[in-house]
Amino acid sequence: MIAMPKNLPQPQLKPNTEVVLQKRYLRKSLDGKLSETPRDLFWRVASAIAAEEGKYERSSREPEALARDFYDLMTGWKFLPNSPTLMNAGTDLGQLSACFVLPVGDSIEEIFDAVKYAAMIHKSGGGTGFSFSRLRPKESRVGSTGGVASGPVSFLRIFNTATEQIKQGGTRRGANMGILRVDHPDILDFIRAKEKEGEFNNFNLSVGLTEAFMQAVEKDEHYDLRAPNTGEVVDRLRARDVFDLLVKKAWQSGDPGIVFLDRINRDNPTPDQGEIESTNPCGEQPLLPFEACNLGSINLACFYLPGHNDDADPARDGIDWAELRRVVHLSVRFLDNVIDASLFPLPRIAETVRKNRKIGLGVMGFADLLFELGVPYNSREGIALAERVMGFVQEEGHKASVELAKERGPFPAYPASTYAKAKKGPYRNATVTTIAPTGTLSIIAGCSSGVEPLFALCFTRNILDGERLVEVNPYFEAALAATGLASHELMDSVVAKGSIQDMDFLPAKLRKVFVTAMDIEPVWHLRMQAAFQRHTDNAVSKTVNLSNTATEQDIFDIYWLAYKEGCKGVTVYRDGCKSIQVLATGEGQ
Ligand code: ADP
Repeated sequence: MIAMPKNLPQPQLKPNTEVVLQKRYLRKSLDGKLSETPRDLFWRVASAIAAEEGKYERSSREPEALARDFYDLMTGWKFLPNSPTLMNAGTDLGQLSACFVLPVGDSIEEIFDAVKYAAMIHKSGGGTGFSFSRLRPKESRVGSTGGVASGPVSFLRIFNTATEQIKQGGTRRGANMGILRVDHPDILDFIRAKEKEGEFNNFNLSVGLTEAFMQAVEKDEHYDLRAPNTGEVVDRLRARDVFDLLVKKAWQSGDPGIVFLDRINRDNPTPDQGEIESTNPCGEQPLLPFEACNLGSINLACFYLPGHNDDADPARDGIDWAELRRVVHLSVRFLDNVIDASLFPLPRIAETVRKNRKIGLGVMGFADLLFELGVPYNSREGIALAERVMGFVQEEGHKASVELAKERGPFPAYPASTYAKAKKGPYRNATVTTIAPTGTLSIIAGCSSGVEPLFALCFTRNILDGERLVEVNPYFEAALAATGLASHELMDSVVAKGSIQDMDFLPAKLRKVFVTAMDIEPVWHLRMQAAFQRHTDNAVSKTVNLSNTATEQDIFDIYWLAYKEGCKGVTVYRDGCKSIQVLATGEGQ
């Protein structure tokens, strides 16, 4: 362990950071008392991850100095690794990845193995994704007993219940993704699985759409349903009927989402190791069976250069690119070291991870950066900024991975990868970029989450145990104060509404820039997701928000656009379609 320097500064905590750290991240002794401070936490993480550097003879960095760089990186809120790394680095548990995918084989033994493995992963703070596509359809014969099988949806319930019983670190429950291919005979049951509110509440469900299916929708044709155990075609359905049902259910409850499986596999860098059949719980990380990935996110709000913004001069665009480059390179090194520092719950997982060394560097605070620069999210300028920023992170991230490969060697599966065939690399990591939701990380860093617009300019946040946090966006507060129009009455009404779009008395520019998720037309949500996807190795966590009055046709159009625009999947959420929301504006509270 690298000793803490005597003069190590205390982190300057953002308003809600302390509450979240205390609840979930700071280590506690057996009697429940806190046994570390935020400074201890960030040093524990920084020093444990930097210590891995010592293993590499040809490393360009010295562990002590690197530990200090990592500490400053995190406590400057410029970059944070995913929650399990913050919780477990430098501890006996040592499980540092947020994302796992487990295979579910078509036998009782394999199904319950998967349940057990998932329990072990949840206990350590990770989330799991599964494809249920290999399970034989309900009512098919079970050879050994002469009975009939209960089918994927029925087994899904077992996974859901097991998840319910395991609290991570005594607080939150695990999260799961369940995927079924659209050509599985039980697909209609699966699409309807979350009809009853509260059913399968520990799962996000997504239908795995194939290219053949999408073409059948386009041409209004029927397509085959195939039993995975026998390979037989057991039925045919009209593709448009299935697509319409999907749309209808997503309109009613937000579930299921869709993922484009063939597209995900087209981008699979290591097809020799098999097909990708699922993603992690929030959809941003496609993985092979028994693969895990650790994520980390750069807070873009930190890279605004005030006074350096001049529309007439493209070189003065208000962004500190040099610092962003430094942070990307440091973050890639951090995430690669996390792989070495991590203890995995199963030898099979450790083996797959070490072969491919996938990492997922992404961004958060994008909406904040737009506010700082005075650029509306729902504008061509906003999209262009997304492309520029993520294009840069992607390019520098890949360069950093090439540099690490020179120091440490490429990922072991590189020679058989698609990169080697295309003469790209060698890279240290099979994937480098992923856009995570940053649900809790963004609270710790005090920034907007992932690449999402703000949900509301002021809102109350329901956190664990029914506690609430009231938040006013600081950029909005400052911009409003600058207009001289701020007043208590005005703030009260912004808290109640969350949005300022119908406040005609406010300057037009202010209203254009300070848009919220519900103010933004769905098509702009989708365009933004597609813009980030174009510069991301893995996928993008993004919700397309729709107003309560949106129609099924609106969802159909969004799904279709996601397909045309090259997204890897899409999740929609129609306001008010579930009674419990994690974030809520004042109205209806
Ligand atoms: P965080 O901000 O805590 O790092 P994110 O909201 O960015 O997490 O989610 C990233 C990934 O972490 C998810 O896609 C999922 O794989 C995992 N994850 C998130 N929440 C949970 C949870 N409650 N249980 C298990 N895994 C989770």
